[in-house]
Amino acid sequence: MSANLLSAGKDPMGAAIADFFRHGKAGRLRVFSSQFDEDEIPVASLFRTFDEMPALEQKALELAGGRILDVGAGSGCHSLALKKMGKKSLAIDISPLSVEVMRERGLDVEQADLFDEHFCGEFDTVLMLMNGSGIVGKLSRFPDFFCRMKQLLAPGGCILMDSSDLKYLYEDDEDGSYVIDLAGAYYGEVDFRMQYKQVRGDKFDWLYVDFDTLALYASQYGFKVEMVEAGEHYDYLAKLTIR
Ligand code: SAH
Repeated sequence: MSANLLSAGKDPMGAAIADFFRHGKAGRLRVFSSQFDEDEIPVASLFRTFDEMPALEQKALELAGGRILDVGAGSGCHSLALKKMGKKSLAIDISPLSVEVMRERGLDVEQADLFDEHFCGEFDTVLMLMNGSGIVGKLSRFPDFFCRMKQLLAPGGCILMDSSDLKYLYEDDEDGSYVIDLAGAYYGEVDFRMQYKQVRGDKFDWLYVDFDTLALYASQYGFKVEMVEAGEHYDYLAKLTIR
């Protein structure tokens, strides 16, 4: 397992976060994918406060306790909200520009890849939010992921992760059935590439996973999973603990 840190020249989301943090506004953070049409992430939304967060994220922050690891922390919005709640977290991200911003925001932060074994620690809560399962990348990476979690979780600790079931993208308008190629790759495995101004990132894998598939992998690798709350649109918050 090698560290997969970004360099500043290939860190579009970090560049957008840094721009917004320094100037109170940012350009377009463009998202490309081989599966979807071009899209955009509103950069201001990466700076959401507790009150602006979706209910599932608020729930996760309320449940988080002890030593908290905020994985793929971005602008640090969740860690900042936790701090306001009097909770302590360590934020990690592979993005150097985001890490710099989080440091300036007074957070405890480290530039690290979750999958790099050099990153170690013991945490009571591992937070993975904003389709946090994305960082796992592909279903085939779940064994590595659960192995890392066993290294990082304190006894009795848990992972709080949100995700979405993308099956709604394949719904037949006429009869409401789902048209999914079951012989193909899992429908929640997607790829993205981002661009901010002239900064183009590399393509990366991102996993959306339905609850049943998550539960299947979790049980195979020694974890229990519980649906904490279902969201309004095929999304959910799951809590995973070592069995
Ligand atoms: N959690 C934040 C940001 C979500 S975007 C929020 O909700 O606003 C996903 C973040 O995960 C990006 O900042 C990206 O740089 C980071 N990331 C992607 N892969 C990672 C990995 N393997 N380890 C740590 N961070 C990662």
